[in-house]
Amino acid sequence: MADRMIPPMTDLNKGFWEGGADGKLRIRRCQACSYWMHPPYPRCPRCHSEAARWETVTGTGTIFTFTVNRRAWNPETPVPYVVAMVELPEQPGLLLTTNIVEYDPDAISIGMEVEVCFDHQETVFVPVFRPI
Ligand code: ZN
Repeated sequence: MADRMIPPMTDLNKGFWEGGADGKLRIRRCQACSYWMHPPYPRCPRCHSEAARWETVTGTGTIFTFTVNRRAWNPETPVPYVVAMVELPEQPGLLLTTNIVEYDPDAISIGMEVEVCFDHQETVFVPVFRPI
């Protein structure tokens, strides 16, 4: 992938973007009811608690849905590339929007098992996934 636009870092999302520095995917988790929250919310959408912290997840998942982009919206970004939603096994419906890398885009399918790797750009580690 070409250089990405670096997301604005906030106290609320910093754990997600910097978590990959040690190769671990981290998701914010409510400490009152154990609900995983992505994107990270300041308050648990299930129990409304503000007690949350970053916890490591397995880093595996399945492709929930995807699309193959074949148009070079940014001339520096090589095409085709895959934009996908990956469901993490920690909780039904826990989805990450991401890219699928290191694989033929035409061979990707819904339900394929994937594992996280990180695209290190400046100060962030963008979680992307590759088929297992
Ligand atoms: Zn909660």
